[in-house]
Amino acid sequence: MATKVLIVGVDAMESRLILDWIEDGTLPVLASLKERSAWGPVINSLGMHHSAAWSNFYTGVGAYRHGQFLRTVFDPASYHYSAQRPEPYRVSPFWLRDGWREKLVAAINIPDAPLFKGINGMQVVEWGMHNCHDKSISASSPELASEIVSRFGGDPVGDSFVNERTPAEFGDFRDRLLRRLRAKSDMACHYLASNQWDLFIAVLDETHSVGHQCWHLHDPAHPLHDRQLEAELGDPIKDVYVEVDRALGRILEHADENTTVLFLTDLGMGPACDGTLVLDEILRRIEGRTPSSGSRWAAVLRSMWGAMPHWIQGVARPLRRQFGPKLHNKIYMNERSQRRCFELPTQDPWSGIRINMVGRESNGRVQPGRECEEFMEHLTEELHRLVDGRSGKPLVSEVIRSCDLDLSENAGDLPDLIVRWAVASPTSIESPTVGRIDPVYSSKKGEHEADLIGFLLATGPGVVPGALNHPVRFEDFAPTVARLLDVSLDDTDGVPIAAVCNSNT
Ligand SMILES: [Zn+2]
Repeated sequence: MATKVLIVGVDAMESRLILDWIEDGTLPVLASLKERSAWGPVINSLGMHHSAAWSNFYTGVGAYRHGQFLRTVFDPASYHYSAQRPEPYRVSPFWLRDGWREKLVAAINIPDAPLFKGINGMQVVEWGMHNCHDKSISASSPELASEIVSRFGGDPVGDSFVNERTPAEFGDFRDRLLRRLRAKSDMACHYLASNQWDLFIAVLDETHSVGHQCWHLHDPAHPLHDRQLEAELGDPIKDVYVEVDRALGRILEHADENTTVLFLTDLGMGPACDGTLVLDEILRRIEGRTPSSGSRWAAVLRSMWGAMPHWIQGVARPLRRQFGPKLHNKIYMNERSQRRCFELPTQDPWSGIRINMVGRESNGRVQPGRECEEFMEHLTEELHRLVDGRSGKPLVSEVIRSCDLDLSENAGDLPDLIVRWAVASPTSIESPTVGRIDPVYSSKKGEHEADLIGFLLATGPGVVPGALNHPVRFEDFAPTVARLLDVSLDDTDGVPIAAVCNSNT
């Protein structure tokens, strides 16, 4: 008997491209799956880092409870920030709850999920993933981790974030991603055939890496688009999407008419040229401050790094990763403590601003209450005055106060203001207060769209093909799987997706 519920997740695969390329025949497996599926958007919580989506998925609760929604954690005593790591057991994954121990579950490479002890089946974490916290595979048993490495090899890609690549290096990067995708589909097929699973989850994430690194090769509207490079290389994003389609085809050979198949993406991708990288400078100018000598040095070091040959960057990258955050914190810590507000890097498609608040930060400069309210209003007005130098269009579409988000006890970790950028490709950033700032292009050429929309295709016994009546949420998947496998799942914020579970009610 085949697997009862098969979930193929794809990280940061843009739904507009999926639909376009289904339409023009580029993705035949997805086209055929859509024909027999209920399909539609999957929505995220606004302003959240994308780790929230997968954490909602495997816990069945919202970000306000599992707390996994930040890129960095800020310490108001020292003004340091550090990367947020996945924390096991704040909320258990649904497969470890009461009543699930009899169900055989495989969970392979769920992004930002830590290794949870006690699974009845297998879990694999960080085998060749875009977001790696430990840079090495771990699995529910050491023997399983060794078996995977000996059968399917190591990660052929490694760190995908490289500032500049030659045409040959872009081609090599694309080829390595394709190799890793094939290895992942081999791995999924191998373990699918090895057991009779109640639930099998495998996530592919080469779409995430190629989107961040190669969007400018795909999108003619991107300011860094290079026609000659495009003619030489083709479209690496399309190549990776086609390979995902093939991988899906191979994986679906392990499903039968009794299998419920969920194909799921968490959020999309678009051009990355917003104001995030210069937000701290914008805030400094709004406050009327000049950069500290430390931050001027940091800018010099950044431009020196960008000018280094790739081979030196490659050799130096482990050192940079190890010492860079500490050096960064050291340079900026003193400056942050003197300012009224500063940038807090938290969400990928959004930007964060932390107010240096008396009584919360150790050297607070803004009194809570009326003064803080007026300051946040002032910042919001100034941010709305920023325009794109070429078109004159506003750069900021929305400034959200995190206190308006429902995050209960986790709200204190967020920035106080969350900025949503309106213009994807500014030529320069201007306002009467800020003056003119040229945009900075990071190693990311693509970025997640601020709407954070994912995509679902669901097929199986009793599922009626066609567009869903309303979007689903990531916390709906745990109760949906529970209903499909006839297991109880208490204490969830989601609801079973009716279009998927109709025959099981
Ligand atoms: Zn990303």
